[in-house]
Order: sequence, then structure tokens, then C-alpha cells
Amino acid sequence: MTFCLPLLFGALQLGCGGPELPEAESTPCLADSEGEGGCQEELLAQAVSSPAPGYRITTPFGKPGSWAAGYHTGDDYASPTGTKVIAITGARVIEAAYPTSWGAAYGRAAVIEAANGRRYLYAHLSRLDVSAGQTLSAGRQIGLVGTTGNVTGPHLHFEMRVSPYRYGTDSRKPTW
Ligand SMILES: [Zn+2]
Repeated sequence: MTFCLPLLFGALQLGCGGPELPEAESTPCLADSEGEGGCQEELLAQAVSSPAPGYRITTPFGKPGSWAAGYHTGDDYASPTGTKVIAITGARVIEAAYPTSWGAAYGRAAVIEAANGRRYLYAHLSRLDVSAGQTLSAGRQIGLVGTTGNVTGPHLHFEMRVSPYRYGTDSRKPTW
């Protein structure tokens, strides 16, 4: 398990967890760490402001349109193919596949479940860097932005659902 502390302090271009990156200089946050300043993982979780670091929402949740639900069921982050996408909080990987059970329109995607039971979808990816069953810390790289599934251009579609995780009716504005 590696952590990317530069991410914590806003060096977003460095990304997190990529195999080409050197080991972080700082001590990883272990579940039982009791170092001065407390657990770094908590700080990292608070610092994750976007699932696609460096990019903002370009098409928001709830926008009316030609989607099957009649509105946009997630937040889109327009970003180039290859942009890193990261876990916005500690989570367990439910699915990582092309496609997932959430539908072929989402292309290559990952569904993760946070401790609060919410599930988050990272859709249209060009690459997946996680596997089902894996436990992720906040900031962990999940994959890369792409154009798989129904898209008109590269972007991350980031969707949140609450139990029982149905399309449309269980979708909420993503928060964490
Ligand atoms: Zn979308």
C-alpha cells in the first residue's frame, strides 16, 4: 500500500499511486499509527476535493436532458484521456469491470462502497487500476479517464447511489 502525500498538499499533477512514482518520503498512514499529528489518512481524506484531481464539475447532477432517467444522474468532470481518478474516501471495491452491473453505457468502470454504505461509480475509464474486493484508502488511484461507453468526449462520470443502488431513483448528488 502506498500513499501519495504530495497530493495532500495540492501537487495534483503528481497524482497518486502510479507505478512510475517513487515511494513517498513521508510515513504511510497505518490504521494503528499514533505518530505526532495523528493519522495522515484522515488529513488525506479531507483533502480529496475532486475524484479527478485538478478538474471540476462540468455537467452537474440533476441537469435535465436525454438521459434514461430524464436527468443527469452524476457529476461529470471533463478531462483528457489518461487523467488520474482517485478514491474520494476510504472504500471497498465492489466492481471493477467493462462493463459493470450498473450498465454498458458507463463503459469500463469501478463501483466502490464507502464506510457509510454509499456507492460511488467511476465511469468511462480507459484503464482500471483496482480489482473487486480490494480495500482503498482515500486518494488511491482507481484508474484513468477515457471514452468507454456512451460518451461524446473524454470525461469522468462520477455517480453516487444509496441502497439499494438502483438507477435514477437511488442516485443522489455526490457528496463525501
Ligand atoms: Zn455523466
